Amino acid sequence: MKKFVILLAFLIWIASLTGCGNRPPESQSATIFAMDTVMTITVYGEEAQEALRQATAEINRLETLFSVTRTESDLARINAADGKAVLVSPETAEVLTLAIALWEETDGTFSPGLYALQRAWGFTVGEYRVPEDAEIADLLAQVDVAEIRIDGLTVTAPPGMELDFGAIAKGYAADRLVLILRNLEIESAIISLGGDILALGERPGGAPWRVAVNDPFGHGSLGIIEVRDRAVNTSGNYERRFMSEEGETIHHILDPETGRPARSGLVSVTTVTADGARGDALATALFVMGLPDALAFVDRTPDLEAVFVTDDGRIYATRGLENMFVPEDAGRVSWS
Ligand code: AMP
Ligand code: MG
Repeated sequence: MKKFVILLAFLIWIASLTGCGNRPPESQSATIFAMDTVMTITVYGEEAQEALRQATAEINRLETLFSVTRTESDLARINAADGKAVLVSPETAEVLTLAIALWEETDGTFSPGLYALQRAWGFTVGEYRVPEDAEIADLLAQVDVAEIRIDGLTVTAPPGMELDFGAIAKGYAADRLVLILRNLEIESAIISLGGDILALGERPGGAPWRVAVNDPFGHGSLGIIEVRDRAVNTSGNYERRFMSEEGETIHHILDPETGRPARSGLVSVTTVTADGARGDALATALFVMGLPDALAFVDRTPDLEAVFVTDDGRIYATRGLENMFVPEDAGRVSWS
């Protein structure tokens, strides 16, 4: 009996030694509900607790600036100004400047000026409706992103046009969080803001972060993207949608040319880039473009790769992801 107890103690001692040697550094996580999204941030490092505190405060602050439904937000004030100049925060001016550049770069498929149309379709309040053709045409006639003026912190938007950062705000928030984490000397974190994910550094121990790509047709994932220091942003039409009386699926990504839900043959687009705001906006733009134009866009754009899912269930991945994208079913994937 005594021998047995000594042996047991010895084994426990050995186990604790090996356990100590292999134990990964402590991580801390926070789950926040903001920007209509469940967000999870996981941080490794000594300052993890403080990092999460600052990150949460920053997300809430950005939401109060960019929310289209809070009347005192920068965007709500621009949208209510009816063509008059509005003083905004530096972050709003920064995102709007970036959004206008992305509107140009994407040939207008990403547009920060569609909020009046979003409202007409009922997406903002969840009271879905199908607007009349004439209503869409009237609203569309007032959208002119080229007419937005930014002079320092003063923004003037043409009357009738309303701004919305819905396709860029979460990506931008992720970029801001990375700045906060880097300031606290955090080298490893995963920021997951719904479909907008930013991987800082790599996992403790040196493996890449593994980001699952949702299967738009099921509940699982259709593969994993392995990344270090990359943003992975997904836009899909399976998120917020309803069925019209005619049996058409109405979803929240609008084609700025028609003012109607984009019918591009795609059901989801996942981008891999260095920058969250850019990745977020480009995922939405590529969705509107449709596969042929989107593949050409990725091909001519440095530091951009993508995975596309078409409405017939095929998966298209760009060559730059060959060492990063690990599909569940390689037979469904075409590389281009
Ligand atoms: P995402 O989930 O990033 O694709 O963004 C979709 C959200 O962006 C929508 O809920 C709208 O608020 C807004 N949005 C819809 N269509 C567009 C578009 N073509 N360009 C920019 N923003 C859009
Ligand atoms: Mg987006």
